[in-house]
Amino acid sequence: MLDTPGFTEITSTADIAAGRHGRRAKCLQRLIRMDLPVPPTVAIAFDTVRAIAEGDLPDLSTLLSLFDGQPMLLSVRSSSETPDWGGPGAVLGIGMNDAAHAILSNTLGHDAADAAYLRFIRTFATEVMRLDEDPFEGVEDPAKARALYEEEADEPFPQDIRDQLAAVLRSMARAWEGTSARLLREAQGAPVDAGLGLVVQRMAQGMGAGQSGSGVIQFVDPETGEPQITGRYLGQALGRDALHKADALFLRRDPRGPSLEELLPEVFAELVEAGAACRTRLREEMQIEFTIDQGRLHILDAVRCPRDARASVAIATALARDGIIPRAEAVERVTPATLARLLHRQIAPGVARDLLANGIAASPGAASGRIVLDSAAAQAALARDEPCILIRRETTPDDVRGMHAADGVLTERGGITSHAAVIARGLGLPCVAGATSIRVDERKGTVIFPGGLKLQAGDEITLDGATGEVLRGVVAMQEPQLGGPFADLMAWSDQIRDIGVRANADTVADATLARRFGVDGIGLCRTEHMFFDPARLTVVREMILAENARDREAALARLLPMQRADFTELFQLMDGLPVTIRLLDPPLHEFLPAEGEGMRALAEALDRPLSEVKRRIRSLQEYNPMLGMRGVRLGVSVPEIYDMQARAIFEATADAMQNGAKVVPEIMIPLVTARREVELVGRRIEAIAAAVRRERRAVVEYRLGVMVETPRAALRAAEIVEGASFLSFGTNDLTQMTYGLSRDDAGRFMSAYVNEGVFQEDPFQTLDVDGVGELLLLGARRGREARPDVTLALCGEHGGNPESVAFCRFAGFDYVSCSPFRVPIAKLSAAQATI
Ligand code: PEP
Ligand code: MG
Repeated sequence: MLDTPGFTEITSTADIAAGRHGRRAKCLQRLIRMDLPVPPTVAIAFDTVRAIAEGDLPDLSTLLSLFDGQPMLLSVRSSSETPDWGGPGAVLGIGMNDAAHAILSNTLGHDAADAAYLRFIRTFATEVMRLDEDPFEGVEDPAKARALYEEEADEPFPQDIRDQLAAVLRSMARAWEGTSARLLREAQGAPVDAGLGLVVQRMAQGMGAGQSGSGVIQFVDPETGEPQITGRYLGQALGRDALHKADALFLRRDPRGPSLEELLPEVFAELVEAGAACRTRLREEMQIEFTIDQGRLHILDAVRCPRDARASVAIATALARDGIIPRAEAVERVTPATLARLLHRQIAPGVARDLLANGIAASPGAASGRIVLDSAAAQAALARDEPCILIRRETTPDDVRGMHAADGVLTERGGITSHAAVIARGLGLPCVAGATSIRVDERKGTVIFPGGLKLQAGDEITLDGATGEVLRGVVAMQEPQLGGPFADLMAWSDQIRDIGVRANADTVADATLARRFGVDGIGLCRTEHMFFDPARLTVVREMILAENARDREAALARLLPMQRADFTELFQLMDGLPVTIRLLDPPLHEFLPAEGEGMRALAEALDRPLSEVKRRIRSLQEYNPMLGMRGVRLGVSVPEIYDMQARAIFEATADAMQNGAKVVPEIMIPLVTARREVELVGRRIEAIAAAVRRERRAVVEYRLGVMVETPRAALRAAEIVEGASFLSFGTNDLTQMTYGLSRDDAGRFMSAYVNEGVFQEDPFQTLDVDGVGELLLLGARRGREARPDVTLALCGEHGGNPESVAFCRFAGFDYVSCSPFRVPIAKLSAAQATI
């Protein structure tokens, strides 16, 4: 093995490392070790490429001496540490000059020699020397191309392979250091000092006499991940030409036209064998680039097959099912973001996309619908059952009701943490944000797209929230694919993870979805959802506006059977799994009508004068309701409400037990700040439990817990936990209160804060590990020290965020709870944090 510093011939024993020579070099070494027919290849190390970029070019004769024989043509490909970090495109045919042209004319024929020379001159001119492409357009004679080169570059076309190679290496090394390449790879997670390796390979001739050509083959469908031979082969071609040419051959026998399998059955069989060997030895589905030189196969390169979200999951699980990788590795290979894409509707593969504009892919999923430009129009469309896309210059809290009604959201301004993006992700709504090339005229009701196309409210468009594309018209969709491979991935995640995953579910629909995703229970049932039910709202309002205890009790007595039925249904559905029910949390005025019409209707229902209703509503208004009469403060001041809820829970429990189900409800007190609050509420709850036990002669058990949503509750966890068998950290409020930052108003300045680097990320999306996280650690430690058997949980939105799940596991929590649609992501993240 010849070896010089920086240039290493790739052999099966050479010292090649992905961290010094890049992933491609390492992969080529593996192919060589598998005895695949790889042409002689030399790896150039990161340090050498860096030196070349800085003008320090080593003596190339040592490199060239590693190849022997004439005529010699070389290719250079980039080899970064991780393929996602990119790298300059390959340059093929280095070494083509007048002499090589003459030799090739003799051996391969004039046409092949002309084509090879022409191609190299053009590549060298445009990609290496950065000359304009236009003058070379349509030129078919190499001599003419060469003359053109000399005119444009003002110097002779280099004839010496040394000069050509030097120019290519310099140009590729410098391209890697360019600002845009740097930004692109840093966006993919590359460190600032990420290195580039290069591989120089002796080219096998894909042009000329006999059966010669080149192609690309892979063994799975890039969309589904199902086994299927795909790719093309083109005679008399080099590189990846076959992929782009209409006259390329199919690989496998195909009724649509001739195939490589028919033309060269042995070579085809050799390729299939190479693919199978790659799969088992490289433990990955690879795409192989090959050249056939007068009937002989050469394998030039193999890269990880490109794949969609669905194929990613299918490929990883199939490799594990076939025993090629362990199941844990399959779980590790699927990123939470990939899984998130799979859980949403997507544009059907292969459909034509009539692209109108591009924006930021802000929330996954795809949707088609008619354009609406304000919330009222979105709500009207929903009432007509007509899908719609809400387009705004940017959204504000006033647009949230429109977002609830719309099928997708498009904004002209704003980024990944803009209000539109944040809310859309929370709602599971596809969103394309910051499509700066469109002009929204909300007054005229029009949207102008690049090229001047003007669409109006009512016209149909499609959004792809995974790619950021805005398309014209309605496009065929594909429903989420939750069968086979997805189910395997979830089952394996369940086996691996050691932290529980529950769902935040308030309705039967939520709970049903949660069960489909195989949750460990319900971690948060927000009972106010049940109070907002239109059929009950009037009774709820009567209860709130009652002047005295007797009237309030009468209204609560009407609500009791409704609440009991809610819980009975939930208990049945969850079938013995734990269900955590949170007692009423929001300020009461949220249930009252805000405008005249609603107030009149309420006056009628209550049979009271309008003025009195208005006065009562006014008297309940607060300056800062989120910090006012809500949560446990309601329970202490108006205890009858919690009494009714506790009775409904216990009666539903007794009913379920009578039917043979084992139910131990978990009752959770919101917004606690002090031990005494827990004592007061806990004592009343226990009294009601005792009453129901007596009345129903049933053994009703329950667990009482506290939501840690205020910094004081975290600080005082040691004493608060005395009355609580579980502590569930509500990180939405806890984030709000730790920062003193309104959850509902933060959208207005969140993007500025993220852009200016005040916040790394929106703390309502990704747990602020430094600040809020410290409160979690402190609260968890104090709680657990005082009561070692306490259950610790997190039930804010962060419960579905991968980093936050990992943090909770690190903090020793027992489970996280998140919205049902994020359960699979939480499970996968929990498993990945465990591995
Ligand atoms: C929380 O505050 O984190 C929480 C789960 O409760 P809510 O979002 O209902 O305030
Ligand atoms: Mg809360």
